[in-house]
Amino acid sequence: MSIYNTLSRHKEVFEPINAPFVGLYVCGPTVYGDAHLGHARPAITFDLVFRYLQYLGYKVRYVRNITDVGHLTNDSDDGEDKIEKKAKLERLEPMEIVQFYTNRYHRNMEQLNTLPPSIEPHASGHIIEQMELVKKILDNGFAYESDGSIYFDVEAYNKKYDYGKLSGRRVEELLANTRQLDGQEEKRNSVDFALWKKATPEHIMRWPSPWGAGFPGWHLECSCMSQKYLGGRFDIHGGGLDLQFPHHECEIAQSTAAYGHEAVKYWMHNNMVTINGQKMGKSLGNFITLDQLFSGENKVLDQAYSPMTVRFFILQAHYRSPLDFSNDALKAAQKGYERLMTAVSALEKMKGGKENTVDVEALETKCFEAINDDFNTPTLISHLFDGVRMINSLIAGSEKINVENLDKLKKLYHDFVFDILGLKAETEAVSKDHEVLGRILDMVMAIRTEAKQKKDWATSDKIRGELKAAGVLVKDTKDGYEWELES
Ligand code: ZN
Repeated sequence: MSIYNTLSRHKEVFEPINAPFVGLYVCGPTVYGDAHLGHARPAITFDLVFRYLQYLGYKVRYVRNITDVGHLTNDSDDGEDKIEKKAKLERLEPMEIVQFYTNRYHRNMEQLNTLPPSIEPHASGHIIEQMELVKKILDNGFAYESDGSIYFDVEAYNKKYDYGKLSGRRVEELLANTRQLDGQEEKRNSVDFALWKKATPEHIMRWPSPWGAGFPGWHLECSCMSQKYLGGRFDIHGGGLDLQFPHHECEIAQSTAAYGHEAVKYWMHNNMVTINGQKMGKSLGNFITLDQLFSGENKVLDQAYSPMTVRFFILQAHYRSPLDFSNDALKAAQKGYERLMTAVSALEKMKGGKENTVDVEALETKCFEAINDDFNTPTLISHLFDGVRMINSLIAGSEKINVENLDKLKKLYHDFVFDILGLKAETEAVSKDHEVLGRILDMVMAIRTEAKQKKDWATSDKIRGELKAAGVLVKDTKDGYEWELES
C-alpha cells in the first residue's frame, strides 16, 4: 500500500513503525456548533483509512480529539475562545456547549456510518499534560514568558530545526508578510504562537499554572494527546488541508522542541470542500450543516440528500482533490449509489452454475490496485461499476458464472462496498421507492404482454418508448423482464 506523505510530498510505501500496530491521530472538531460539510470530509476520509488498515489486518489505535478549550476566534492568539463565546451567548456553562455539540457530532458521524475512534480525548481533560509540555519546551530554550503567557520562539527553533517544513513556508517570508510588531505586543516575533495564554479577569475557562491562571494554546493539545496515546513516534497524523498551517506546522515544532525529534511518520491531508465553486462560509450564505443536508432544509438545497449519498459523493473524489458540492453533483451521486446498491442486492440473490465466462480475479486485482494506490477511491468505484455491468450481464444471461467465481464476486462486493468504503443499504429510503415503482412496472408490463399477445405492436412499442423516456430501461429476459433506472 502506498500513501502520500504531505511531509515528503511523495507517495511512500506504507510501513508501520511497530507492525502489526498502527497509530492514527486525526484532528477532531471544535465543538461550538453543528457539524457541517467541512466536518464530513475528514471524518469519512480517515474512516476509510481506519477501515482499510483494519481490513489489511493491522491493529489500529485511532485517536480523534475533541477541541473544547483554547481554539480562539480567527484561529489567532488574541481572539475569544470559540466555546466560551458561544456559552456566553447561550448563557450556558462552556461544558454544556461542549456536551451538546459533541452529542450532535456523534449522531451525525453515526449517520455517515463512520466508526467511532478508539480514544476520543478532550483538550480540557489534558491540561496537566499540556503544562508539562510547556515546561519542557521552556527548559529546552524554545519558548519565553511574557506577562503571564508563554510563547513559542520560532526564531530560536528555526536556528536548530526547520520551521515550515510541512507547509513549505519560510520563516523569512512569513516575517515579511505579517505585520511588524510595534513593541507593545507580548510576542517577540509575529510568527511566534501561544503555548499558554494568561486569562483576563472575565475569561471563564481558566486553570492555575506556574505562570498564573490561564489556558493552553490551541496547537498544544494535539502534540500532547497524540503522543500520550500513541507514543513518542507514531504512524499517521491526519486532518484537513486548512490545518496544515499553522496548526500542524506548530505541532511538529512543539514536539521537536520538547523531545528533539518529530513524532509523526506520515502526514495526510484531505482537500477542502467548496459549494457551487465557492468557499463555504456563514457570511457567504452557503453554509450547510449535515442535519440540513439530510433534511433538505436549506435554501441552497433542491432536496434532501441521504447520509449514504453524501458518503458516496465524498468517496467518489480522491481525498487529495478539491470537492465541489452542487445539487447536480449530489443527485448524480444519489443515482450512482442506488445503482451500486441495487446491483449488490441482486448479486446476493444470484446462484452460480457450471459455465463461466467472466473474469472475477481481474476485477479483484484492479480494485486492490486502486485502493492500494493512496486510497484511490474514484478509480476503485469505477472498477466496481465495471463489475455492476458484469452483474447485469449475468442477470440478463449474456454472461455466465460458476459457483466458485460467484462466491468470490459476492465477497469482493461485500468487502469493498460495506467493510472498506463503509456504505450501507438505506432500506427505507431506497427500497420503498423501488418497491412501489416495481409494482407499477409489473402492471404496465402486464398490459404490454397482453398487447404483444394480441399482436398490438403499436401499444407494446409505445409502452417501452415511454418508459425509456422516463428513464426506466426494460430488458426482456427468459422468465419475464428486468428493469433498472438509467443513470
Ligand atoms: Zn489538531
